[in-house]
Amino acid sequence: MSELIYLNGQLVPPEEAKISIFDHGFLYGYGLFETMRAYNGKIFLLKRHIKRLSDAAHVIGLGAKLGGANLTHACEETLAANKLKDARLRLTVTHGDADAFPWLERGCQPTVVITARPLVPPPPEKYEQGSRMFLATVRRCRQSLASGVKSTNYLTSVLARIEAVEHGCDEAVLLNDDGFVAEGSISNIFFVKSGRLMTPSLGSGVLPGITRALVMELAGEMGIVCTEGTVGVGIFGQCAEAFLTASTLEIMPLTAARDAAGKEIAIGDGQPGEITRQLMAAYKEQVAKETG
Ligand code: PLP
Repeated sequence: MSELIYLNGQLVPPEEAKISIFDHGFLYGYGLFETMRAYNGKIFLLKRHIKRLSDAAHVIGLGAKLGGANLTHACEETLAANKLKDARLRLTVTHGDADAFPWLERGCQPTVVITARPLVPPPPEKYEQGSRMFLATVRRCRQSLASGVKSTNYLTSVLARIEAVEHGCDEAVLLNDDGFVAEGSISNIFFVKSGRLMTPSLGSGVLPGITRALVMELAGEMGIVCTEGTVGVGIFGQCAEAFLTASTLEIMPLTAARDAAGKEIAIGDGQPGEITRQLMAAYKEQVAKETG
């Protein structure tokens, strides 16, 4: 079956899915995106993803442009057209094609692109044995509005991820400009200490992750206390467990870390911990409940 791409209201083959070289998403990174996961032909937490994108669109001045666009329907239509059950969807919205600088151009139409492709999940052994993270030297800016929206300007994450790959790690974790833990390059981070869950607050310069929010809700239902706040970098050596969350990753245990000086940091006992495993199971149950 050949792939179909949603482009501004139409489903077209990839070779016909072309956007202008004057698109402000391309020229300035002036756009937003969502990455979602579909299970059994249904997009998990679709409403939450569309809400995050719409809220962010208002924050960055794209809200009025998107106004009536039925993005929920467009995502479902794209998944169905590609006849995929388990998929990775990406919805991208940019300020569109215009001559002038974004803030001067009012009349242009937004560009909306949706792709639905087969999901290539991380290998199962990463979930069973845990993954390895790199403490990036690239920082997340705590006070920047850009840290709280999923914008098409992904340079900070890309640079951090390159560092991680060069150091043989699976994911980069970024500190913020105050030196506190923020998040992964494409994920949020949680720690378990003294039987309690903790995660950097949104004020630490992190994306309000959809998976992060769900994990906090599940933890609440399971009676696991979860706090949000400033998290010092010493936590890596002190915590009993750590894990990452993202729509495509779900919950990924972290069992080893390394810093830029090449120092290895042990996380817990080097195995995915009990609370992490319980939350992984609860997450799977929630997926089954909503998409089964
Ligand atoms: N933080 C960043 C910087 C991300 O790019 C992502 C997802 O791509 C996340 C966190 C996790 O967000 P979500 O759980 O909504 O997928």
